[in-house]
Amino acid sequence: MTEKSFTEPADDSVRENLLRIRDTMAAACAAAGRPETDVSLLAVTKTVEPARINRALSLGVGQIGENRVQEFLGKRDALRLDGVGVHLIGHLQTNKVTQIVGLVDCIESIDSLRVARAVSDASLKIGRVTDVLVEVNIGREEAKSGVLEEELEPLLEQISSFSGIRVCGLMTVPPILETEREKRQVFSQMRQLFIDMRGKNINNINMSVLSMGMSSDYREAILEGATIIRVGSALFGRRNY
Ligand SMILES: *Cc1c(COP(=O)(O)O)cnc(C)c1O
Repeated sequence: MTEKSFTEPADDSVRENLLRIRDTMAAACAAAGRPETDVSLLAVTKTVEPARINRALSLGVGQIGENRVQEFLGKRDALRLDGVGVHLIGHLQTNKVTQIVGLVDCIESIDSLRVARAVSDASLKIGRVTDVLVEVNIGREEAKSGVLEEELEPLLEQISSFSGIRVCGLMTVPPILETEREKRQVFSQMRQLFIDMRGKNINNINMSVLSMGMSSDYREAILEGATIIRVGSALFGRRNY
């Protein structure tokens, strides 16, 4: 994004960006021989003000993703969330779990037995089952959350008995890579892991959602099998923290 787009009316840039993203999604689906209905766009709304988020929702964006519990709680009353899916995509601390369960449709960032248990318990307490994804640190990066590849199957086995959560698939934030080849390689590795886990047929573990791809690499993610792409800056413009 250039500086200029920020001085234009907010509504115009969100609309233009959305059209461009939808075009790119359609082209990537076509190139991969996948139906467009296979892939859904999750608008990442961290740091974005409610007016711009509502603009995206009015243009048909059906899902949003927020990173931080506190920020979402602060904005949520200003959002037109009727019929909109809300996903938590940032690292979730156990002590925040009760504040967020019941207010989101999916928690994409389950990365430990402890947080999975907390989400399950909090959900049961309010008579719900929460959809979750398990986050994988596919690039084995020190600074990133998510479980390592070899930790995934044991974790899935352990949480499969938690009746307050429904595991729907996997999520990842891969390393920042430059070339298309490198990007596709890491997404392909992720898809292979996803397929392997599906093949294990673990009780109560459903492997249907693969959340990967952000503003700089969602095209490659779609080519390699993503079912949800999480796009922030390409839709709303560069973030001002
Ligand atoms: C911020 C964020 C995104 C979106 O990043 P962009 O590069 O702005 O598209 C996606 N997923 C997660 C987990 C994020 O924190």
